[in-house]
Amino acid sequence: MDIKKIYEDSKALLKGHFLLSSGNHSEFYLQSAKVLENPKTAEILAKELAKEIQKSSLLIDTVCSPALGGLLAGYELARALKVRFIFAERVQGVMTIRRGFEIKKGERILICEDVITTGKSAMEAAKVVEEMGGEVVGFAALANRGFCHREGSSIKRASNCKLPPNLPFFALEDFTFEIYSPDNCPLCKKGNRAVKPGSRGN
Ligand code: ZN
Repeated sequence: MDIKKIYEDSKALLKGHFLLSSGNHSEFYLQSAKVLENPKTAEILAKELAKEIQKSSLLIDTVCSPALGGLLAGYELARALKVRFIFAERVQGVMTIRRGFEIKKGERILICEDVITTGKSAMEAAKVVEEMGGEVVGFAALANRGFCHREGSSIKRASNCKLPPNLPFFALEDFTFEIYSPDNCPLCKKGNRAVKPGSRGN
């Protein structure tokens, strides 16, 4: 399955000159929500990810996603894996599990995001799951931004990856982009201005 093509066709993989939230510039931007805009595409991607996970014979009772980004990917993945789905959300900045969701002691939980960059939100969700007695058995995302090592990829873990190295991380594809500081950006040198993703209808 050509995951990059699915992202391009869904306008989830954008090419241009982007100003990232870090202040750096990039030629590409991943607008993950766009790939899930069509429920059929979401279903196809989640089934493919479920297949990868099932190959590993990892036992999973429940998928948990950090809101908001991970909700759709996690829900579709739970459906494909035929397991329960819960979510964590930030309350005044602190990742929390509420809304009556319960976790049994030792319940095997997979944390799922739409995209894993450094894995910060995923780790915050993992922490709450463990505080409630669950066992985090792995991580999943549709896309890996290339800082963490996903199962089956030659891309190595970078020093800013927050996922634990001893747990598996499943994703469909690596999306590694060059990132430039503004004073060293070849796109700026060509004379065009970096735009904030989302500011021009993207
Ligand atoms: Zn630039």
